[in-house]
Amino acid sequence: MSRPHPAGEPAPRHVLILGGTTEARRLAAELAERPCVRVTTSLAGRVTRPGSLAGEVRTGGFGGAEGLAAWLRGRHVDALVDATHPFAGTITANAVRAAAATGTPAVILRRPGWQAGPGDLWHPVASLAEAADALPALGRRVFLTTGRLGLAAFAHLSGLHFVARSVEPPEPPLPPDTRVLLARGPFTPAGERDLLRAHRVDVLVTKDSGGAATAAKLTAARQLALPVVVVRRPPLPEDADAVAHVVADVPAVLEWLGRRERPRLSGR
Ligand code: NAP
Repeated sequence: MSRPHPAGEPAPRHVLILGGTTEARRLAAELAERPCVRVTTSLAGRVTRPGSLAGEVRTGGFGGAEGLAAWLRGRHVDALVDATHPFAGTITANAVRAAAATGTPAVILRRPGWQAGPGDLWHPVASLAEAADALPALGRRVFLTTGRLGLAAFAHLSGLHFVARSVEPPEPPLPPDTRVLLARGPFTPAGERDLLRAHRVDVLVTKDSGGAATAAKLTAARQLALPVVVVRRPPLPEDADAVAHVVADVPAVLEWLGRRERPRLSGR
């Protein structure tokens, strides 16, 4: 919980974090320590046990950009932080539209994507459907780490064996020959190498999520000379730069918030 502010002082600034990522959790923990900030994290509600979060938490969709805009106005939000996953494109588009509609200062936190290095055998694709199309030419035993909601795109591939890893059980439909592994990162290159060998994997599929917690599989694939199908990120909305500040990490968000001193920033 945020610390109470002393009587007679201006009400704390209200920061809304659109969450669901490690960075959002870290940011909430940092801000909840500050006496002059009230922090609310918003979760989509997809994960059944999201773990404890510092500050206030609300769960579930807002009802599109208009619903989010109403929430920003109604709860007197002074700053909006989109710290959602790089593949959560709809909520980011809604955040940009709602910030523009309400004049709420906004920042988008996008962790950098992964970069291929020497020895990497990457096959970039634009979507999960393209990843599925690419697979039969690349291997027969697939390590799939596209998240529990991303398996339907591969469900028609009956000739391949899949090892699908996710934090929570995947949503059907699944490919007919699928072994599910439930695990939460961070993972190590040695552990990932052992896993790839144990399951005799010959191709990986991942989203370009970025971040250190799940990058070890890429190191392991390089060491074992395995091809990796990498699904590219959706682009940020066209007007994102005009409406919001875009940064790469939590310290940069804190720095941006620090530059906004006044308790209420808009004339809404
Ligand atoms: P999405 O496609 O961009 O969002 C779909 C709808 O879910 C949004 O329009 C919104 O509903 C609601 N929503 C999404 N994030 C929300 C949030 N933080 N708070 C309140 N409502 C939210 O998002 P998604 O890909 O389903 O991801 C959902 C959440 O899981 C995100 O918050 C994201 O950070 C996290 N996550 C996603 C991935 C991934 O690969 N996509 C991976 C890890 C974590 P309304 O329009 O009704 O407001």
